[in-house]
Amino acid sequence: MGIERTFSMIKPDATKRNLTGKIIAKLEEGGLRVVASKRVHWDRAMAEKFYGIHADKPFFGELTEFMSSGPIVMQVLEGENAVLKNREIMGATNPAEADAGTIRKEFAQSLGENSVHGSDSLDNAALEIAMCFSPDELVG
Ligand code: UDP
Ligand code: MG
Repeated sequence: MGIERTFSMIKPDATKRNLTGKIIAKLEEGGLRVVASKRVHWDRAMAEKFYGIHADKPFFGELTEFMSSGPIVMQVLEGENAVLKNREIMGATNPAEADAGTIRKEFAQSLGENSVHGSDSLDNAALEIAMCFSPDELVG
């Protein structure tokens, strides 16, 4: 508990449908603050590096192709219990199982194209933040 930082991404399916602002609004309304933000277009190698933890999964190819198919917004979010809070605001991985009012319930298109990423632990948050931002880019 306490003030934490977590890593968030708005995925290509959402940037494509111009949902960046609506998604950030949900994160902010949930009590999280954007303390770093970058809009980038990953190449396949960067997607494979970031999702290396899933390299042995059957969906790895599809996931990394999708994540390099269009722009994404990488963010660092700060707030009370931010890792868990972000996961709550996102909703379940599969939008069909996501609670009402969550980002994935409202916006996700499928299990794969599910609009947002969020770190699943404080340790992974630190690793993901370090992979995508330099310390001077955290300005919150
Ligand atoms: N994913 C997929 N098929 C699956 C499981 C996951 O395409 O059966 C994708 C989906 O985009 C998901 C990402 O891989 O967000 C990472 O999976 P993870 O289990 O870490 O889900 P998350 O932490 O994003 O909820
Ligand atoms: Mg995950």
